This record gives sequence, C-alpha cells and structure tokens, in this order.
Amino acid sequence: NRGDISTPRRTKEIIQRHGFSFKKSLGQNFLIDQNILAKIIDAAGLDKTKGALEIGPGIGALTEKLAQQAGKVTAVEIDQRLLPILEEVLEPYPHVNVVHGDVLKLHLQELFEQRFKDVSGVSVVANLPYYVTTPILMKLLEEGLPLEHIVVMIQKEVAERMAASPGGKEYGSLSIAVQYYSEPELVCVVPHTVFIPQPNVESAVIRLSVRKEPPVSVEDEDFFFDVVHASFAQRRKTIANNLKSRFFPKEGRERLEQLLAEAGIEPSRRAETLSLQEYAVLSNVFYAAGL
Ligand code: SAM
Repeated sequence: NRGDISTPRRTKEIIQRHGFSFKKSLGQNFLIDQNILAKIIDAAGLDKTKGALEIGPGIGALTEKLAQQAGKVTAVEIDQRLLPILEEVLEPYPHVNVVHGDVLKLHLQELFEQRFKDVSGVSVVANLPYYVTTPILMKLLEEGLPLEHIVVMIQKEVAERMAASPGGKEYGSLSIAVQYYSEPELVCVVPHTVFIPQPNVESAVIRLSVRKEPPVSVEDEDFFFDVVHASFAQRRKTIANNLKSRFFPKEGRERLEQLLAEAGIEPSRRAETLSLQEYAVLSNVFYAAGL
C-alpha cells in the first residue's frame, strides 16, 4: 500500500513521475487534505449499495475515497493526460471506471442506464472545475436524472447564492433555479491551503438534496424561469418596471398592475424579496393571461 493518493507527498510524487503540468483553463486544483475529503464523503451518505458519479477526478484523490465507500463509481475526466495516471492509481478498484469526455457534452441518461442500473441510488460527488460550475450543476438538475445528492466543492460565492433565502443580495435567479430542483445546504467553507495549486477564490462544499417533485406547481417551466430572469434583469428596479420591460414594453401599466394584484404582489417590491412560491403564482397568472 503506497498510501492515500491525496497526501501532499504522494500527489507531488505522482505529478512529477508523470511529468504532469496543471492547466488553469481546466480548473485544475487538486485536493490534498484528508479532513476535507472525509467531510465531502460523509455528506454524500454512500454505502456499498450505492453509486457515485464524479466529475473531474484529476489524479484520483476523491475517486479513491469514493471507491472505498460506494458499490460503483464512474468518473468523467476531460483531460486525456490524466487517463494513464488514473489507470495506474485506481488499479486496485475494479468497480471504478473512468470515462474520457466533457461532462457537458455527455449523454448522462445513457451513462446512468449503462452504469447504475443495479444500484439503490446515485449521488454526484465532485471537486468541480470552477469555470463551469453553474452549467454543470444546471445540467445535472434539469435533466431529471435519478439523483439522491449532489455534493460538490465550488466557489464560496456561488455556494452562497445557491443556498440564499429571499431578502438578501445573494438571492437571485440562480437561488431560485437550484431550489426549484433541490434543497441546498452549505456543508463547510474551505481554505485555499487544501489545494495544489491554490485557487485565488474562496471555496465551499455544498450539498444539494435532489427533490423528487418541485416544491411549487408551475404551468410551464420555461415560462416560469423566463419570468424569474426578467424580474431580476435590473436589480435596482422594482419588479413592476422589470416585468414591464420584458412583457409590456409598449403598453401602459394598467394590465400589468391588474395581473400583479391578481398574483398578490405589490408593484413596488424588488425581485429579491419574492419567494419561490410567489414566483410560481406570478408566472401562472401571466401564463393564464396568455403572455
Ligand atoms: N477531483 C480532483 C481533486 O479533487 O483533486 C480534481 C478536481 S479539479 C478542481 C477539476 C477537474 O475537472 C480537473 O481534473 C479537470 O481536468 C476536470 N475537468 C475540467 N473541465 C471538465 C469537463 N468539462 N468535463 C469533465 N472534467 C472536467
């Protein structure tokens, strides 16, 4: 046993021996801290009946821990240079497979059918490349994959926006989109020192418990998100002014004010004060009005 992949010493040894150089453009910041890895693994609640999907295994620091907990692990890595390293370090774990590709281009439903047919539940567990955090998480949530949890290391500011409640400056369309599909929970804030190389932003681990059903009922999901985005178009403006620009650019205010009254929303409110429930009612009223 050559010891954990993720110790600073072994990480450096692997990287040097393979002549690997970090690519900033791929968000390559590798974890070298056992405590943080343990916190990520604990938050995922895995056991041998479950599957784990990892995005961006790097040199396998987290993959190895997932392999020790889960019954089946699939890791998707975009950087071809990492494949021989992963093959070497993950050799003791035959229930782990590495897929070479860009997770944003991958047919995930198909991958789930192939890999996770016989497990009792699947969670995504990853230290994500920060340049594509939001597209990756929205893809995972929007595709309606049968996921239990998504436990990810991301930029701290993004984690705070995802978990924000109405009323604060962090709350916005990202909070609403994430909370429509999941229940977010901040697991821990993470110092720069647990990575090599160290990223120049702060990090946090967040757990999204994926909902079986949305918490509100909307007539049309695309239209619901359209209303939410329009409401936040200019944060210093009132909700009425933002909605007017998007839905009634050439009309007077009467019809808009009538619809807002029907939805029970004061025209002078700001987008960041409306709950998910209020956005659902608002978009359903607009939808019924044929907008
Ligand atoms: N899991 C490793 C760890 O914690 O040490 C590495 C994490 S590093 C922050 C992000 C990883 O994602 C890198 O290995 C990078 O090559 C990979 N990656 C970047 N963009 C990707 C994409 N679109 N699809 C799949 N992997 C990607």
